[in-house]
Amino acid sequence: MSNLTIAHALIIPMVESRQTIDGYVRVREGRIAEVGAGSPPGFEPGEEIVDAAGRVLMPGLINAHTHLYQVLLRAVWEDLELMPWLKRIYGTAQVLRPEHFYAGTQLGCVEAIRSGVTTVCEHNFLNPSPECAFETVRAMQNSSLRSVFARTIMDTGEIVPDCTKETLAQAFRRIEEILAAHPNRAKLTFMTGPNTPPINTTTALLQEVRRFADDKTIGISAHVAESRSVVECVRQHHGKNGVVEFLRQFGIPARNSIFAHSVHVSKDEVSILKETGTSVSHNPVSNMMLGDGVAPVVEMLRQGVNVALGTDGAASNHSQDLFDTMKAASLLQKVHHQDAGVIKPYDVLRMATIGGAKALGLSSVCGTIEVGKRADLILVDIDTIHNQPVNDIFSQIVHCAKASDVQTVIVDGEVLMKDRALAHLDEKRVVAEAKIAHRDLMERVASLSF
Ligand SMILES: [Zn+2]
Repeated sequence: MSNLTIAHALIIPMVESRQTIDGYVRVREGRIAEVGAGSPPGFEPGEEIVDAAGRVLMPGLINAHTHLYQVLLRAVWEDLELMPWLKRIYGTAQVLRPEHFYAGTQLGCVEAIRSGVTTVCEHNFLNPSPECAFETVRAMQNSSLRSVFARTIMDTGEIVPDCTKETLAQAFRRIEEILAAHPNRAKLTFMTGPNTPPINTTTALLQEVRRFADDKTIGISAHVAESRSVVECVRQHHGKNGVVEFLRQFGIPARNSIFAHSVHVSKDEVSILKETGTSVSHNPVSNMMLGDGVAPVVEMLRQGVNVALGTDGAASNHSQDLFDTMKAASLLQKVHHQDAGVIKPYDVLRMATIGGAKALGLSSVCGTIEVGKRADLILVDIDTIHNQPVNDIFSQIVHCAKASDVQTVIVDGEVLMKDRALAHLDEKRVVAEAKIAHRDLMERVASLSF
């Protein structure tokens, strides 16, 4: 891990609202050691110096909810609503092999790095064999991204194939095995959770999973109220008005919980999210693609709920690009409320950085540029046609900048991409392996009937 100084940057620290600094950041032993205005007073012998003139230096983006292997399933099932789409996604468990997870996750991680993501939360829910989870984690670790692996559980549900339904005892044992196999967790943390309650989880699971998570001191990740049909299920079968209200009796909403989507939640349920300290991963591109609806993000922000941003899997987003997602998050609320000022670019940037860090229990580690935090940083080229001239850098990062403007990506002080060249991974090999896995997976999928 080299010591480095990034000089002459336009720094967006994401600490105080709309603050920028023309200055430098020093990184020592993977940690942010100094943030200063102007030129650095001097350099140490042997340190790496990055001239960041014409670049924005900001915290790396945090993708708080995705399913990385799904890059192999981009644009396979189009024009379907959530339930018929899910039937196909779940059904694929019958043919998914560990090597598909490895190759897909690897490709997804490269796409993440190349679009300025430094932390990714993989919400894992298909486990036809224990090796599928192990191979996913192995690919995430090889990418050197900061990784959160949320190993969730399904124990019931008509559309869930038997091969990926688990008894609680089985699921807990497998999660314990994966925790035990990864004692060194400098850049890797774990979560668990019910995948999509209540359509694929029993109440017994919901009762036990909170105890299990607390026992292992890990957080909970769940798909919550993504479509109206899930809310209907709660009303018909459980006599509650909404999914958040339903989950509250099991202690699932909590400070270490992240609820992906939360599209169909009432004002009262937003209050439950606030009271319990639950975070939301807002996934606007995926919600639009599946026709789910519009999450009440403005109400969440108004009540002080912590909101993060996620791409969701490429099967319902097509990409892993958080720049796309930031712009979509901004525009969707404006059109939904028919109010151009209803959400500010800085709020969206917060969601993609410190909001994500808080949601994943990493707020003391990353999400801002502050002395003492780990150096998870990106440099964005703003000397490009579509970014010039600069009038409002916050609006322009959200609405003008593109993933391809990200020049340099640093995680934990380690440079993963420099001048758009990957430092460790062989991009051509990753793409070749993904093509092989994709061909094999598609042949197997062709044998399934949905
Ligand atoms: Zn998801």
